[in-house]
Amino acid sequence: MNRYEILKSLLDQGQVFKIICGAGNEDIDQVKRLSYIYTLAGATIIDVSANVDVVKVAIEGIELAYTNASLYDITIKTRPYIMVSVGMPGDPHVRKAYIDTNSCEECGKCLSICPTQAIDTKRLVSWGTDYLVDTKLCIGCGKCSNICNTDSVISYRYDDRKLLKENLLQCLESGAELIELHAAIGEHRDSLLEWELINSINPNNFNSLCLDRINLDNVNLKYRIEEARKISGDKLIIQADGIPMSGGGGTFNSTLQTVAMADIINKEFDNNIYLILSGGTNSLTKSLAQDMGVHFNGVAIGSYARKIIKGCVDDTAIYIATDLVESNIDKHLIWDTKTTMTDKNSGLINLF
Ligand code: SF4
Ligand code: SF4
Repeated sequence: MNRYEILKSLLDQGQVFKIICGAGNEDIDQVKRLSYIYTLAGATIIDVSANVDVVKVAIEGIELAYTNASLYDITIKTRPYIMVSVGMPGDPHVRKAYIDTNSCEECGKCLSICPTQAIDTKRLVSWGTDYLVDTKLCIGCGKCSNICNTDSVISYRYDDRKLLKENLLQCLESGAELIELHAAIGEHRDSLLEWELINSINPNNFNSLCLDRINLDNVNLKYRIEEARKISGDKLIIQADGIPMSGGGGTFNSTLQTVAMADIINKEFDNNIYLILSGGTNSLTKSLAQDMGVHFNGVAIGSYARKIIKGCVDDTAIYIATDLVESNIDKHLIWDTKTTMTDKNSGLINLF
């Protein structure tokens, strides 16, 4: 089977697990670490920013996982696919926060709420009292502007899109195999033009369209998917983004909206769309979807997957990540064995 057929087979079995490093996350050390840990844990797809340097470090993380897999008696059954994410201007996944230091009251609330430490205290020291956002770390989640009491201090900016095609081609040449378009915006025309471009750039494998119901009601959601399918045919994945970047909670309520969104799409399309659940996903996502009788083909986890291994500097990170993957796809597809894992030392401490 070629790589398209392998992924199709995993989707058909509902056995895709995607680790989301973050469309806006250009922290290369973190991406390498996540790629390493979640490759060993059995992830099928590693979703990264559409940045050649980020793609290269994700590959380094995967290679390192293959090198060290024998230390755990792990056989990695499917080499993870690298998916690069881009987004339409207006979609939160690709925006970067900007703080107007002239209006900022320096209350510090945004500092403590930022999940990626993008508003960096070290920079505060070196730059005086200005609150500055590190654009490599900012994932556009909106938590800072939600908590800020002062109007218009925090705004958002988007990348220049003129070099999109060239950039995506370079990412594919560097080893990426799938492209995701975050198109959670109201306008159909612009989104579909960009979707057409992405499919022309990567015609031989799956591409993913990430949509939510904050910007699209059910009628418009259905229309967008119908039109996207005309362009991609059977190579279309829809990422049902319940509440974008809302993960972190380990509850059924956190993952409820993605399951509800999948249910709506399934009813419109008779379960004939490849669906990946995201936006609030966690270790309970598969269980909730199955209990509700909602069909899906895979689960994508970002905030929660990153949070549960944050600060782990030893092999514990691999155990924790594996438990998360196993809670969403079948164990036998991940490893041949994990029996001797507790006795092994991966060298993780030295690497990260
Ligand atoms: S929450 Fe708003 S006012 Fe407070 S430090 Fe952050 S940007 Fe400034
Ligand atoms: S809270 Fe979210 S949007 Fe704000 S700076 Fe941090 S990552 Fe960026």
